[in-house]
Amino acid sequence: MDNLRERLAGVRERMARAAERARRDPAGITLLAVTKVFPAAAIREAYEQGLREFGENYVQEFERKAPEVGGLAGARFHLIGHLQSNKCRKAAEIFQSIQTVDSPKLARRLNEAGPALDVMLEVKLSEEDAKSGAEAEALPELIEAVRGCANLRLLGLMTMPPWSDDPEASRPYFRRLRELAERHGLGGLSMGMSHDLETAIEEGSTCVRVGTALFGKRKRE
Ligand SMILES: *Cc1c(COP(=O)(O)O)cnc(C)c1O
Repeated sequence: MDNLRERLAGVRERMARAAERARRDPAGITLLAVTKVFPAAAIREAYEQGLREFGENYVQEFERKAPEVGGLAGARFHLIGHLQSNKCRKAAEIFQSIQTVDSPKLARRLNEAGPALDVMLEVKLSEEDAKSGAEAEALPELIEAVRGCANLRLLGLMTMPPWSDDPEASRPYFRRLRELAERHGLGGLSMGMSHDLETAIEEGSTCVRVGTALFGKRKRE
């Protein structure tokens, strides 16, 4: 617990310094605590430390934790991992936000599931095969589809650059995401993780997704 408190203070400090360098108001940057692989107890601890926004990667994994944490007042849960269309109904039930919408079909499925959801569009900006996300060229059609969905509130774009331990390697991807968001009139930018959150904030991130720097190394993925 003390450990988490210290790590959280460290992350907030890093965010504040980066915001200052970029002359941005830190209040405009959400810290999303990424709790994949960690048990529901980790979410509770983080909640007790004042965190309210949580990111999970897998519908099934969060389905197991949700009964323990779904009722925490003011807590919001974001899906940040790839969503299969056959899991849309369940996802819409346990998450308040889906950051990984990458096709019109997925948008329609989520819309039909019922509850109102905040959504972000995951954009694929690198050539890596394994990555999910929509191609930049497909965004106009995808945005139009999402805007036609009464239950979906489109907030912005999300991306995950290819892994590199050099945070500067992420910068061109973050910059490109910001340009795409501006071009399409979207304000939200979910980008930046434990190792490159400063770069992301300098490039305009409104939501950094931080796991390791808060909870320590994950044992499995
Ligand atoms: C795991 C994960 C994170 C957090 O990564 P850390 O390096 O542990 O901060 C952020 N975003 C996505 C999409 C992830 O899968």
